[in-house]
Amino acid sequence: MRVAVIGAGISGLTFALSLARKGFELDLFERAETLEEVGAGIQLSPNASRLLLALGLGEELRRCVVAPDKLQIGNGQRLNLLAALPLGEWAQARYGAPYWLVHRADLQDVLLKAVRKEASVRLHLGAGVEAFDAQESGVAFEAAGKENHADLVVGADGLRSVVRRKLVSGAEPSPSTHVAWRVSIDVAAAPDWLDTSCTTLWMGPGWHVVHYPIRRGERLNIVAIEPQKATGPSGPVLFHAASEIATFFASETLREKWLPWPLQTVDPSLAWAKGRAVLLGDAAHAMLPTAAQGGAMGIEDAATLSAELARDGALAGQLARYELARKPRVRKVVSMAESNLQIYTMPSLVAGLRNTALLALPGEVLMRRQDWLYSFTA
Ligand SMILES: Cc1cc2nc3c(=O)[nH]c(=O)nc-3n(C[C@H](O)[C@H](O)[C@H](O)COP(=O)(O)OP(=O)(O)OC[C@H]3O[C@@H](n4cnc5c(N)ncnc54)[C@H](O)[C@@H]3O)c2cc1C
Repeated sequence: MRVAVIGAGISGLTFALSLARKGFELDLFERAETLEEVGAGIQLSPNASRLLLALGLGEELRRCVVAPDKLQIGNGQRLNLLAALPLGEWAQARYGAPYWLVHRADLQDVLLKAVRKEASVRLHLGAGVEAFDAQESGVAFEAAGKENHADLVVGADGLRSVVRRKLVSGAEPSPSTHVAWRVSIDVAAAPDWLDTSCTTLWMGPGWHVVHYPIRRGERLNIVAIEPQKATGPSGPVLFHAASEIATFFASETLREKWLPWPLQTVDPSLAWAKGRAVLLGDAAHAMLPTAAQGGAMGIEDAATLSAELARDGALAGQLARYELARKPRVRKVVSMAESNLQIYTMPSLVAGLRNTALLALPGEVLMRRQDWLYSFTA
């Protein structure tokens, strides 16, 4: 089978590698001339790290990741901690795989190097696929100035997927009410109150902040999420109530460095496969970042789709089984991300109850609520 993968982000690269390891030849088309990621981090939970380890990327990844020992949750207005959920060895023992923090560029680099080593993957950079013609007999499309043919087109082309638009007409992403501001700094530039060794979530009325170390602990990744309408021209504006966070966010260290990222989502219940085309990753189900799972779901999709394609049987059945296997889990993760946003940004009136519950419950009990998500093997 001739497989054409469109998009070399986390999902497309993982899929290309997974399929090549199963003995397939494929073409990977990427619009960008060079693969670069903006300076931001990504949390890789055990459900994702176990799949990357199974692809043999452990040694390379361990050189650039941080394995934090905990996830802290705090009241962002008073800067007092409410809970510490165990990660590190506890997560490794419970889920059989590590919880990692990594710079996106490092992850992409590890995946790209592994893909380049596969003789059966032809990587085409600077090769955008803007339209394709899918017939029963095959798919034809132009890329890199020439006509290409495939038996299957895999759309790993992200939020604005060309493949999704072809599968479901008018399937545009929906803008969220919130925007994420992202920045990364040297850990040495962080103020004393900020723990640079692990993931910390600060919650405030209408906003929240997550920060964690990347690049072997040399850099700190910070994401601040607030309503779109509150956004100022050069950084988050909602933090006046939390004086120390506000002072730090407006300080020389961060000013002018914030990158706004308006959040958008794709309804995961739309079709993911039709005829000779199939979607994975953000192209199928871009979600809010409040479960830290968008990339992980793309990695899981890649494992499931490659396994289905390697099974005997007709293409229609393979694609149908992939969609059936993935959709319920992705929908559950999407609703978790939506309810997390509500919980993290609760107004002060009800936030007291949330904070009391967090203070009362042991960290392990809170972490076990993620068992269904982290112990899963796609
Ligand atoms: C603030 C924030 C924090 C996040 N934190 C986490 C986290 O901690 N953990 C986690 O798992 N996820 C996280 N995510 C989600 C994660 O970043 C995404 O889900 C993931 O990067 C999607 O990868 P993808 O490969 O599916 O799509 P993309 O990264 O969008 O890649 C698509 C690729 O396709 C290419 N392309 C697009 N169109 C074409 C075309 N027509 N022809 C050829 N190539 C094309 C693009 O150039 C790109 O390289 C976060 C997201 C945000 C916004």
